[in-house]
Amino acid sequence: MPEPVNQNPPGPVDAPWRRWLRMLAPPRCLICRECAANGIDLCPACARTLPWSGNACRRCALPLAGADPVCGACLRRPPPLAEVRAAFVYGFPLDRLLPRFKFHRDLAAGALLADCLARTVAPLPRPDALVPVPLHRARLRQRGYDQALELARPLACRLAMPLRDDLLRRVRDTAPQSRLDAKARRRNVRRAFEAAATAPLPTHVALLDDVMTTGATLHAAAIALHRAGVARVDAWVCARVR
Ligand SMILES: [Zn+2]
Ligand SMILES: [Zn+2]
Repeated sequence: MPEPVNQNPPGPVDAPWRRWLRMLAPPRCLICRECAANGIDLCPACARTLPWSGNACRRCALPLAGADPVCGACLRRPPPLAEVRAAFVYGFPLDRLLPRFKFHRDLAAGALLADCLARTVAPLPRPDALVPVPLHRARLRQRGYDQALELARPLACRLAMPLRDDLLRRVRDTAPQSRLDAKARRRNVRRAFEAAATAPLPTHVALLDDVMTTGATLHAAAIALHRAGVARVDAWVCARVR
């Protein structure tokens, strides 16, 4: 009987190339171009300035001064997200890295952000699937790529989680949220999403987005998933705006 050809899964074929590349061109800090160190694309000085999220509300990721697990606003009005985790509080150098990734397709910045987010969520219990917050088709055509999906791909791979970018659709092309206040943001994204009733439907998912500001977009996406029958929706984001 002939031996099966692919008994072992293929190894990381690009690893030797990467090693060569690193020898030829040592990695540079993505922020200041000094020599990077410690296995991430940042110099030690810039790495120290990273505003890692500390004690924060479990339901909305807002930084909390005390030891309370949930903030007053989330206690009064529980949001549709069961748990929210942010790698960082928005500020320097995220205000440079995130726009470069989001609007200028800087994939090295994206890889660094995905790596930092993976470190943050690795100790958490794994949801059944990772669901990137989708762009509307028109916005995707305009921008050329989907930043949440680009973050979700390496993250799903690192955490060995199924990526379900088929689960959620953006059915309304909404105005950019950045120019709106909290109330207008909620109104703007209401019914912007539709969840596909494609089997098998996971019971617990984590939504993925780059930045969370008021949470209006993530909440609208969570409501659509709940409506389709997903029991629990969490959210993972790179940075939380205070
Ligand atoms: Zn630096
Ligand atoms: Zn909260």
